[in-house]
Amino acid sequence: MSGYEQLSISELKEQLAQLEGVYEGYKSRNLKLDMSRGKPCPEQLDLSMGMLDLVSSKDTLKASDGMDCRNYGGVDGLPEMKVLFARLLEVDTGEIMIGGSSSLNLMHDMIARAMLLGVYGSEVPWGKLPVVKFLCPSPGYDRHFAICELFQIEMIVIDMQHDGPDMDTIERLVREDEAIKGIWCVPKYSNPDGITYSDEVVDRLAAMPTKAADFRIIWDDAYIVHHLTDQPDLLKNMLAACKKAGNPDRALMFASTSKITFSGSGIAAMAASAANLGFIRKQLSIQTIGPDKINQLRHIRFLPDLEHIQVHMAKQAALIRPKFDSVLSKLEAELGDKHLATWNKPNGGYFISLNTMDGCAKAVVSKAAEAGVTLTQAGATYPYGQDPRDRNIRIAPTYPTLPELESAIDVLCLCVQMVSISKLLS
Ligand code: PLP
Repeated sequence: MSGYEQLSISELKEQLAQLEGVYEGYKSRNLKLDMSRGKPCPEQLDLSMGMLDLVSSKDTLKASDGMDCRNYGGVDGLPEMKVLFARLLEVDTGEIMIGGSSSLNLMHDMIARAMLLGVYGSEVPWGKLPVVKFLCPSPGYDRHFAICELFQIEMIVIDMQHDGPDMDTIERLVREDEAIKGIWCVPKYSNPDGITYSDEVVDRLAAMPTKAADFRIIWDDAYIVHHLTDQPDLLKNMLAACKKAGNPDRALMFASTSKITFSGSGIAAMAASAANLGFIRKQLSIQTIGPDKINQLRHIRFLPDLEHIQVHMAKQAALIRPKFDSVLSKLEAELGDKHLATWNKPNGGYFISLNTMDGCAKAVVSKAAEAGVTLTQAGATYPYGQDPRDRNIRIAPTYPTLPELESAIDVLCLCVQMVSISKLLS
């Protein structure tokens, strides 16, 4: 079928009536499908079950430097865990700090401390300033935006382009406005667009003049090894780029094993300049005597090096790639020739980002919910939950089973068509 915009009003009405019939059929099935969050499926988690057997009461539970992992200490992590994350993030071991189990927690605490105490090089704590602003490439990760809302940091929407955020706008804003203290970036397989920042974007972010001397790039490399194909996207190293550009303290990089081993029970880490880390370590030593080192030991035994991580992630990809393929082929089959929506085909990460016609996303999500399919709330991928064009829907294909996913996408495609036709008729 060709684009709906070519149909007459009566043809559109006829089409809508037909689709409504199919929709009622789905409603009567009392579906309960949740595609709202990017969680690993049980089979992905099963891949890491062996890890639980690698630490036992028969062990000495000693780290490579002889540290007793059962006791206090090691505030910034086991030496061998620092080596692993240093290789993962392509930085020196002196530029790594291991945290607890959540990188979001590290980012939240980083912003909280910046507001209360400032960052390395701040003249005043950010919270003492009349206004603090952050750049938010959007669509983006809703929980980053929630952190800003919590601390009353004003968010500025920056459009995402095919190779990262709109750099012309960013460079102009940060040059002029001292209140802009930072930017959120998910630079690889971005949430939700699946975009990997180009080398040019990395270099421009690293080198751009900023009016705020203590400007920070929150570089959330959550999907660093989460490839879906054999030809992974390559991301230029932000810490190295910042050093080269003469801004060594600008980048704060984060990653975790949440979607490598167990979500919520993984290991999180931060990479930054030695000066940044020295500043943070002092503050952190007030907050905690040390993270869970036994979990670190378990992880390092299970995934001792990058090669083990790569093999493990290939198994994860084999489980979830069919789900991504299924969503993409259904979108193509149901919406491909109708000019009602566009979507990305990511090489990695956890999401497929669907853009409907302007003004349709909220209605699509609520119609899908009526038929038992829960999607991420429309607008959630934008600061303050407000998608200016009301068009972005985040599809999270990993958690549902394949049959569940297929039904959910059928309902989604149906809702996109119904809402779009209603819009064309209005
Ligand atoms: N950052 C991004 C971009 C994410 O998508 C997620 C989870 O979905 C997280 C961070 C959460 O990471 P963690 O489990 O390490 O807190």
